[in-house]
Amino acid sequence: MPSCPRCNCRIEQTQTVCPQCRSALTAYGHPGIPLHRATEDSFLCPTCAYELDDTCTFPQRPYAETCTLYRDVRAPKQSSQRQVSRGMSADLRSQLWWLGLLCIFGVAVLLAL
Ligand code: SF4
Ligand SMILES: [Zn+2]
Repeated sequence: MPSCPRCNCRIEQTQTVCPQCRSALTAYGHPGIPLHRATEDSFLCPTCAYELDDTCTFPQRPYAETCTLYRDVRAPKQSSQRQVSRGMSADLRSQLWWLGLLCIFGVAVLLAL
């Protein structure tokens, strides 16, 4: 179960505001947009991948205390997530292949008539 980055109160996945300290847990009150928050006396940017590769264009850089795009460079690589996305693209490729085959079959039937 996740916890509030400010007060460490346990929170439900669907909560958008911490029930204890009332700090926002998601951006714009939308549960699908996580809002990353720096701990006290620190900023997010020094440990963010977009700061390190110099691709961030957010105006709050390099002193962001909250950010929707923060990607922690210290977090373990999410290989399973990459595998899922790779699997999805293979799935999409397979679907396109079948769609192409159906189109060829459809054209062949039309020409035969
Ligand atoms: S994405 Fe956010 S946390 Fe990362 S460097 Fe940009 S402003 Fe900072
Ligand atoms: Zn809290």
